[in-house]
Amino acid sequence: QPWLKREDDISKKPVKLHQTDILMSREMSQCIGCLACISICPAIKGAWDLFNGPMLQTLTAKAAFNPMDTSNRVLQAIRSGSFNCTQCGACWEVCPKKIQIPEKAIGHMKVLFAEQEPDGFAKEVGRKIKAHKNPFGRAEARHQWAEGLNLPLAGRVLFHAGCLPSYEFPKTLQSAIRLLRKVGIDPVYFADDEICCGEPLLRLGNEKEFIKNATDFVELCRIRGVKEVITPCAEGYRAFTKDYPRYLKGADLPAFKHLSQVLAEHSTDLLMKENVMEGLKITYQDPCRLGRDSGIYEEPRSLIQLVPGIEFVEMKKNREDAVCCGAGGGVKLTNSAFAQWMGTNRMHMAKETGSSVLITACPWCDRNLRDTLEGGDGIEVKNIIDFLSDALKE
Ligand code: SF4
Ligand code: SF4
Repeated sequence: QPWLKREDDISKKPVKLHQTDILMSREMSQCIGCLACISICPAIKGAWDLFNGPMLQTLTAKAAFNPMDTSNRVLQAIRSGSFNCTQCGACWEVCPKKIQIPEKAIGHMKVLFAEQEPDGFAKEVGRKIKAHKNPFGRAEARHQWAEGLNLPLAGRVLFHAGCLPSYEFPKTLQSAIRLLRKVGIDPVYFADDEICCGEPLLRLGNEKEFIKNATDFVELCRIRGVKEVITPCAEGYRAFTKDYPRYLKGADLPAFKHLSQVLAEHSTDLLMKENVMEGLKITYQDPCRLGRDSGIYEEPRSLIQLVPGIEFVEMKKNREDAVCCGAGGGVKLTNSAFAQWMGTNRMHMAKETGSSVLITACPWCDRNLRDTLEGGDGIEVKNIIDFLSDALKE
């Protein structure tokens, strides 16, 4: 029912609405039904039954945000697959009305759902982060990758390893420290005191826990004298740079940088071996949070091209038009099979370039795209950190 479901008893006085009560609903009303968002959405191609797409989610949100509507629109939206949207931003990019579909039509509905449904994904991830400081609920120490590296616990520049790399990509993190030291940065690392950036909490709608978590993160930085935070994760980077300022208004935040920005700034210090990757054809996956969300397109590309002898080729859809790997929006945590279905579609596009290596600058893309590979597949997925470290002179 895309129309308003009003109170049945019309003998009541007319409902008076203040303009501010319907601001969100009015934004959704801007939709002109052009279908551009549907034409681009990677989560509905071939799987309409699992997600009804951005336009219908926008129309549902329009009714949900109108205080006169009496039906449970939030539940309708969730049942129509809101949790299968990766919040990749492709719909926003093409929407002629620039409606904030990922953040409002989808993201805010998840927040309302979390308030309505106390035992949903949002609460579950919240409990795991509270108990173990990571969204997977893993109880083992997260610092093991850093053993022997002698990273200090307090100081000006922090390396925030992040949850997924800490547990699944220890070698990548060791390579990140090697690269940072090559460019003259010896960072601080919080080891087992490290806190999740909180991004999965927000994407799954647990706004309250996100704010608490972010507050704790910033306070720990203050206590340890941190002024700058370097992250190897695109999802974390988006949370730090866009969501922390939005939710912690007025807080004294450290500066946040993605590792690729830091390395690109110091690229003349990264001396590469000759001949190690001669003739290798390479393509690059723009992580949605780094690309569309943050406009960081050139730094990773310039770093890849530091390696002598490689042939760099773009996928047909790149930069603003890049297609999501499928892991974002909490989808990798809540529906890994669906994330892999999306990832497989993206891998086909990478293979079309004839490349033997697909590089990305986010551990979530790395994880999900690797998960689509079965016994080789003619293409290798690599984090840009590992790629650079493999070519770096001793
Ligand atoms: S954010 Fe991405 S996945 Fe979600 S509706 Fe928009 S285009 Fe589809
Ligand atoms: S692109 Fe924007 S205006 Fe067009 S159908 Fe989608 S939400 Fe509506």
